[in-house]
Amino acid sequence: MTSTHSTPRRTVLISGASIAGPALAYWLHRYGFAVTVVEKASAPRGGGYPIDVRGTAIEVVRRMGVLPRLREARIESQRVTFLGPDGGEVATVAPHDLAGSVEGRDLEVARGDLTAILYAAVADDVEFLFDDSIDTLDQSGGGVDVAFRGGGRRTFDLVVGADGMHSRTRRLLLGPEGPFQRYLGYCFAVFTMPNAFGLSRELMMWNAPGRAAALYATGEDDATLHAFLNFHLPEPPEAFRDPETQVKLVAEAFADAGWEVPGIIDAMRGADDLFCDTVGQIRLPAWSGGRVALVGDAAYAPSFLTGQGTSLALVGAYMLARALAADPDHAAAFAAYESGTRAFATANQALVDHGTAGLFPTTAQALEQRNARLRDLVAMPAPAERAAYSALALPEPW
Ligand SMILES: Cc1cc2nc3c(=O)[nH]c(=O)nc-3n(C[C@H](O)[C@H](O)[C@H](O)COP(=O)(O)OP(=O)(O)OC[C@H]3O[C@@H](n4cnc5c(N)ncnc54)[C@H](O)[C@@H]3O)c2cc1C
Repeated sequence: MTSTHSTPRRTVLISGASIAGPALAYWLHRYGFAVTVVEKASAPRGGGYPIDVRGTAIEVVRRMGVLPRLREARIESQRVTFLGPDGGEVATVAPHDLAGSVEGRDLEVARGDLTAILYAAVADDVEFLFDDSIDTLDQSGGGVDVAFRGGGRRTFDLVVGADGMHSRTRRLLLGPEGPFQRYLGYCFAVFTMPNAFGLSRELMMWNAPGRAAALYATGEDDATLHAFLNFHLPEPPEAFRDPETQVKLVAEAFADAGWEVPGIIDAMRGADDLFCDTVGQIRLPAWSGGRVALVGDAAYAPSFLTGQGTSLALVGAYMLARALAADPDHAAAFAAYESGTRAFATANQALVDHGTAGLFPTTAQALEQRNARLRDLVAMPAPAERAAYSALALPEPW
């Protein structure tokens, strides 16, 4: 059912224009809401590491009409080669076996391509405010009074935080992140570097206990590799958001590593797109408060160990918009969104103990066991993965 527009359109401000934000904007616009998206970057963020769209999320992008474009943009990796601490080959496997994806249906695309495709689907229909962000939120009146960092002030019926794992909207609503973050024992760095290895549409991953260094040639640009460094730290590091601390910690963690890792560390020092973070999940007691709700990583980041953050963001956006369309009472709609989506989020967060997570063993024994599984070509993902990816039967659009 679409709105007849006979009553004033309800206004929604979405913070964040990556994946959850534009997907939510698309569906809310389709249901007749007047949507504004504020993004702190100056444009939709391009580039970025490869991400997966799987299971229920495929149905979301199909219903948005963007599936053909995503299929055109998909990365078709040929193989994943695992290397041991000395750089010797351990096993070569098919990417789909590793991730539990269904070949021919699930997709791997560059994060920037997905953002661009979602943005293009709404850019003409929705107001975008780039280079700005929410400074304060005040819910004491009949709506949400928003003060923007850029100096503007506006009132919206509803505000949704789609501003990622370290969401500012969540901080304004619920306070600092600490109590809501579950640290998973790793830190990582991603950046791009020159493809001096002649890799082509393939991933190479070097492992030692508690450390992984991967190079990914995605095929979008033969001259460039996506580098990924992941290392185990039992306790979260202090001040890991400070760039100098990040480079120092990563370099220390890989100081005596073999294979091509010294060159990768050198490339990290010179990278202009280095992104480092701790590996963690967001677990909230409630996904909304008053007229403000959260979606995607801001509400239930599952960590890249599950490979499901993007799919959760897409499905969550669909479910939230549908709930708001179905019930004019925002409190009831937010409750319906959460009750319809929470089990799906929880099932996918629980995958940290399976599948892709098993690629980063922290002990020599666990690494040997993983290598044995890879050599035997026993597909890494247990049936639990495939079940979780599709654990939500998507209701029809409202
Ligand atoms: C290295 C790495 C590998 C990953 N691999 C995978 C994978 O294989 N598969 C997978 O599904 N997922 C993967 N993910 C996770 C995936 O990227 C996220 O789960 C997904 O991007 C979540 O989308 P989102 O829209 O909720 O948040 P984000 O993509 O984090 O977007 C948040 C947006 O909000 C903006 N923003 C932030 N703060 C503000 C503010 N104060 N005001 C305005 N705007 C703001 C940001 O600029 C950004 O555009 C990976 C993540 C990382 C870091």
